[in-house]
Amino acid sequence: MSNEFPQTMGQQFGRRSWAEPWKIKMVEPIKMISRAEREAALQEAGYNTFLLRSADVYIDLLTDSGTSAMSDRQWAGMMLGDEAYAGSRNFYHLEVAIQSYYGYRYVVPTHQGRGAEHLISQAVIKPGQYIPGNMYFTTTRLHQELAGGIFVDVIIDEAHDPTSEHPFKGDVDLDKLQALIDKVGAAQIAYVSLAGTVNMAGGQPVSLANVKALRELCDQYGIRIYLDATRMMENCFFIQEREEGYADKPIAAILKEFCSYTDGAWMSAKKDNLVNIGGWLAVNQEDVFDLARNMVVIYEGLHTYGGMSGRDMEALAIGIEEAVQDDYVKARVNQVRYLGELLTDWGIPLVQPVGGHAIFLDAKRFYPHIPQNEFPSQTLAAELYLDSGVRSMERGIVSAGRDPETGDHRYPRLELTRLTIPRRVYTQAHMDVVAESVKAIYDNREQTRGLKMVYEPKYLRFFQARFERI
Ligand SMILES: *Cc1c(COP(=O)(O)O)cnc(C)c1O
Repeated sequence: MSNEFPQTMGQQFGRRSWAEPWKIKMVEPIKMISRAEREAALQEAGYNTFLLRSADVYIDLLTDSGTSAMSDRQWAGMMLGDEAYAGSRNFYHLEVAIQSYYGYRYVVPTHQGRGAEHLISQAVIKPGQYIPGNMYFTTTRLHQELAGGIFVDVIIDEAHDPTSEHPFKGDVDLDKLQALIDKVGAAQIAYVSLAGTVNMAGGQPVSLANVKALRELCDQYGIRIYLDATRMMENCFFIQEREEGYADKPIAAILKEFCSYTDGAWMSAKKDNLVNIGGWLAVNQEDVFDLARNMVVIYEGLHTYGGMSGRDMEALAIGIEEAVQDDYVKARVNQVRYLGELLTDWGIPLVQPVGGHAIFLDAKRFYPHIPQNEFPSQTLAAELYLDSGVRSMERGIVSAGRDPETGDHRYPRLELTRLTIPRRVYTQAHMDVVAESVKAIYDNREQTRGLKMVYEPKYLRFFQARFERI
């Protein structure tokens, strides 16, 4: 031993570690403000982490949306922005990137994901039609409802159970879909709204077998499938890891195959596509494309920029190519998993299996003494910020909003606090700090009281609602 090269800890225990396939070229300093300052900041923000100033945050796990670190190649691409009003060369680069990696025929650029959701909803939903989907997403469902549609959850039951270890908790329950078709008739179904790595279920993937079977069922009735492709790279990683026959297939091939069973997709490029702003809609049908391309000029901008600058589109085109690289996706998901394993080892309740982009703490089990209408997940997010300046987000009763019929809160089964990991931004040491802070507030859980809502906005209330301590 002594006359050999020193060994790393990993080798001593027969372990081989993975590491991020990048190195850091530029840094952004961060600091933690004092506990008294955090208390004041939290009160000023009405106990809503969306209302905190970023300068008061130490490690920001609010969202993975628009928070990715761009690569040197993407920054170089920013210098190649062609800021022509019409026909920018960066648009054509983006169009080719989407066509070649996702495989759809027609592309409409938008300023971000909800711009694309607006276009597809208005283009294909007739008032009174149903939109079955594998669990709702906030902005997606709102645009479907604003177009006169009625969202129906057809995800498998396991998705609503935070302790179920089902490998593909994002799968559509085909029996539930069949029952809806039998009840309302295929003509009353606008389309199936399918999401990769289902955000609200804890970042849970959809299997290829499921999307294939879904396609067969929909083909029997002439129903289209549109995909929320926001986190498809992570979904493809889970297929590669868990689904028989895909272990040797590259992420890029899995993505192309998955998308081939759908008729189109909308995208929040702020997530998986590694840019700070941007989005797109891509479809295979010319009629839908025509409608969407006509509407984009009203709401977003000309159909060759859709609200993005030329440089944004260039960074996005490069981001798409970087995001399908196997070593990148593997490091991305494994960093999330590293944090999840630390917390699991310490007995902290969270959604299992750990998803692709975030840890979802199970606030109902974390604070069993706080009733759901005293906002346990919102409380957890507030306590975590207070303890260490780590910013997380509520995904429970506040996010679920009110039932438009009865006016009462919707009471979702899942009451979660999301720790979302930005892409290529934080190191393993940051993950350690986060895990230790969650442990500290867990150890103090019995002393913690809930919140009451003192201001409630009409739409997407979780963004701007204000709370006080009970
Ligand atoms: C973020 C997100 C959207 C909306 O996209 P924005 O870019 O925020 O407008 C839609 N669907 C899912 C699953 C998302 O995570």
